[in-house]
Amino acid sequence: MSAADLDLMQACKTELAEVAKKAGALVTGVADAAAFGAAMEGQRPEELLPGCKTVYVLGGAQPRAGDWKSPSYRHMETTSTSDRVFAMGNRVAQHIERRFGYYAVTIPPGVDRARRPFLNLALAAELAGCGTASLAGPVLNADYGFMYFAAVLTTLPLPVDGPLQVPVCPAPECVTMYDEIGTTPCVATCPIDEGGCLGGRIEDGRFKDRRYDVARCTTRVHTSFIPGFQKALEAVFDETDKEKRRMILYSSQFTRTLWSMSYSNVSQGQCFECMRACPVAAARRELR
Ligand code: SF4
Ligand code: SF4
Repeated sequence: MSAADLDLMQACKTELAEVAKKAGALVTGVADAAAFGAAMEGQRPEELLPGCKTVYVLGGAQPRAGDWKSPSYRHMETTSTSDRVFAMGNRVAQHIERRFGYYAVTIPPGVDRARRPFLNLALAAELAGCGTASLAGPVLNADYGFMYFAAVLTTLPLPVDGPLQVPVCPAPECVTMYDEIGTTPCVATCPIDEGGCLGGRIEDGRFKDRRYDVARCTTRVHTSFIPGFQKALEAVFDETDKEKRRMILYSSQFTRTLWSMSYSNVSQGQCFECMRACPVAAARRELR
């Protein structure tokens, strides 16, 4: 690419950052589409958009400080949502196509086959330098902590940001805690050896041997989302007693499931209790 073309692409990138920030994004970054070698087959940018050059990542739509303050996990489950960040992604995609004349595809927030996302958004966020993977699972941003991510695949050859060199997790507080009592805030919240889902250790300031019981976490996290809905329907179809069928359909669990699906969460991935304990950017949640 010539120096003039590079300047042009840098100008496009600056303009897109402004569009994204105006739409509400807290962070943005660009990943090289060719860097997704570790992604599963079918989840590589080129497979979703032929000729894809870069993946534009936006992060934001965090729970509010008040949401974190609420002791009700049900409240957090039904107010946190990834659809706002998806809408931000659409704004960027539209801008790329209408103003710059390149193809752009916003990754939908739902799942493709076998409950797999269309693209691994966590990998995209990491490759775009928006944050790094954490012991608890989500990609954490050093300045803002937990957030949702959207990704836009594009044929626009933007300058790439690349992954961060310094991991956000473990936070210094977690290293100190681990040195003192052998655990971290997230692991202590949901310890895998005591019926929880998380485990791992810290060595030389980095987390190692991460253990995550995805099946157990899923049954806790997805009880009021699409899998819970499918399970309840199966129970209803199998139930021959009319009164018991009514009990299932009018239960608070089923009602919450319908609210969750129809009103709040486009994709639900956390019960948030491990993230609630995480110190990364926790100071931002402290208001009056
Ligand atoms: S999301 Fe909830 S169930 Fe899953 S690891 Fe975190 S605390 Fe445990
Ligand atoms: S609590 Fe500490 S170890 Fe756990 S995800 Fe947050 S920074 Fe990482």
